[in-house]
Amino acid sequence: MQDLIIIGGGPAGLTAAIYAARAGIVPLVLESLTCGGQTITTSEIENYPAIAKIEGWQFAEDLRRQAEAFGTDIRMERVTGLSLRGETKLVKTEKAEYEAKAVIIANGAKRRKLNCPGEVEFLGRGVSYCGVCDGNFFRGKTVCVIGGGNTALEDALYLSGICKKVYLIYRRAELRVHSVEADEVRAKENITLLFSNVPERIFGENKVTGIELRRTDGGENYQLETDAVFVAVGLEPENAVFAECVAVDEHGYLVAGETCETNVPGIYAAGDTRTKRLRQIVTAAADGAVAATTAAEYIRGLKK
Ligand code: NAP
Repeated sequence: MQDLIIIGGGPAGLTAAIYAARAGIVPLVLESLTCGGQTITTSEIENYPAIAKIEGWQFAEDLRRQAEAFGTDIRMERVTGLSLRGETKLVKTEKAEYEAKAVIIANGAKRRKLNCPGEVEFLGRGVSYCGVCDGNFFRGKTVCVIGGGNTALEDALYLSGICKKVYLIYRRAELRVHSVEADEVRAKENITLLFSNVPERIFGENKVTGIELRRTDGGENYQLETDAVFVAVGLEPENAVFAECVAVDEHGYLVAGETCETNVPGIYAAGDTRTKRLRQIVTAAADGAVAATTAAEYIRGLKK
């Protein structure tokens, strides 16, 4: 039986691992793909305290090394189920089944889909959910970014450095994000902001050649030539495998407050997967610290 299983190796999960290990509980971290979560697909991070600027992949690597240095056992296994046998938590993966005294769910959130025609058809052939990962395929070309949040702004800025032309397509009449990035986007000569526009259809033959847009303030639909469409319309949780065991809200986020405690004693939710106001690396890391501390108290209580 494991003392503590942490599901997810992003900033929340690995911070939880560091705090648990320092509290004398060596955790098992189960990660389905690559440690680092969304930081891997972030070009630069410049809002984490005391780190003026760092590339996303480097942040992820440093975090993984730090967690491993404290003895964390990280295994690449996708979790397929979570259930209870009395107080024992049963965590099922594609490869094994584990018993644990406590579980921290820190599985993050995934990119939301547009759900417009052509999106699925051209996935990997011009449609992408990650500017940093796929931007290089469109070096010197014309691309679109859909969305108006921090991710869309960052993707547009990153792509403007390698592409000839970037259209940032946003459904509102003006940006509602007030940040350094928003000012930088407005100032870039090769970024054109198209406000009050939503994608109707992505089209092409073997690969994307254009996008049809609908103006939300009226007028005819029109088409833009583009080589790629980068979708950055937000996040959604991926908690179906936990929903039988743990309470979720109407949007699918795990219901947990400041202490990260869910409705099940000994199961905690940390990071983007939890109901919360601000989803940032720093708030994910803070959750990880709180969840691990609360879990350690719970585990020590069981031993008495
Ligand atoms: P987000 O903040 O939820 O923004 C999603 C954007 O997509 C919004 O502009 C939204 O428009 C638009 N949108 C949603 N559904 C749409 C649809 N069907 N069609 C067209 N547009 C649609 O998501 P995010 O940018 O991925 O960021 C996720 C979280 O990570 C946020 O909490 C964000 O602050 C954080 N983050 C922070 C940083 C940073 O601090 N540097 C960087 C990246 C992400 P509306 O504005 O009209 O809702």
